[in-house]
Amino acid sequence: MALQEPFKIYTADNNVEAILLVEMLTSAGIEAFADQDQFWALSTVSQLHRSNVWVEKSSAMKAADLIREFESRKQERAHPDASAAHITVRCEECGKTSSFPESLNGTTQECAHCGAYVDVGTLDGDGQADTAEG
Ligand SMILES: [Zn+2]
Repeated sequence: MALQEPFKIYTADNNVEAILLVEMLTSAGIEAFADQDQFWALSTVSQLHRSNVWVEKSSAMKAADLIREFESRKQERAHPDASAAHITVRCEECGKTSSFPESLNGTTQECAHCGAYVDVGTLDGDGQADTAEG
């Protein structure tokens, strides 16, 4: 299992992720290997050990596409709320901004800072969430 022109395509956070990636790439027809050093055998330690994933240089482009998909899925899992849209509302009373979930668009909510009523999703004016200090 030697690559003719090894190309380091990815540094995984841990060996488990490296193995997942290698399996994904291999099943897509791309020859891929993860680093195998002495840490590999020590199961508890190996979880924490960053691991490089290598592919044949000629297949690096295709592998990179697959890895981008892998990473976006990984980020969705890590931050399930990150993709959820939030509406930032500037309070007319205190000038501070509060953020509300997209589902409250068009409703009236209370400012998180002073409790005044704010309209969510009706941003007229400059539309820019300037933070007024003081
Ligand atoms: Zn306020």
